Amino acid sequence: MITEDWIDVSVPLRTGMVHWPDNPPVSIERVQDIERGDVANVSRLSLGVHTGTHMDAPVHFIRTGRGIDTMPLSATIGLARVIEIRDPESIKPEELRPYQIQPGERILFKTRNSARCWQTDDFVEDFVYISQEAARYLAEQQVQTVGVDYLSVGGFFKDGVETHHALLGAGIWIIEGLNLSNVEPGIYELICLPLKIEGSDGAPSRAVLRPAE
Ligand SMILES: [Zn+2]
Repeated sequence: MITEDWIDVSVPLRTGMVHWPDNPPVSIERVQDIERGDVANVSRLSLGVHTGTHMDAPVHFIRTGRGIDTMPLSATIGLARVIEIRDPESIKPEELRPYQIQPGERILFKTRNSARCWQTDDFVEDFVYISQEAARYLAEQQVQTVGVDYLSVGGFFKDGVETHHALLGAGIWIIEGLNLSNVEPGIYELICLPLKIEGSDGAPSRAVLRPAE
């Protein structure tokens, strides 16, 4: 018997789902419909590129930065480490140091967001974020890719701009909007592929993990 060992850590896209407060709402609408006599069903998708599970490109916060279509595929295909964060407010350097994060690592942070924030279509303001100090620490460790389990690496009330600048400015690729509630801490194979949107500051992505140890 073949068992499915891939874990889908993506959030489903649907009309009315949560989005960042000043970003566009999500609408998926049938514009041709067999039920209405059309020969096929065809839907129109309207959403911000930072919706649901998505990636940020450097140009999201850096004027002359690269677009998402230039991302090397090795940034998001390969081994990744899921680290569980206990701090209910933010990810801080003190909690990260014992993990001895190495250059080139892909790190995904499982926080209390995964079990808490995706339960509602209302935006959760006090989600766990990467503090600007931890963002600079990750840049110093020269990680390749960082993933978080809500809509931004930085906080809603603080460190939004600073954390993005520290990570994107260091050439770190960012995955946001993961749901890691079904994932234990450990080493996984990661595949996360952002849509190839030319020059875009971000792109919706499908992300999956498979245990590697
Ligand atoms: Zn972001």
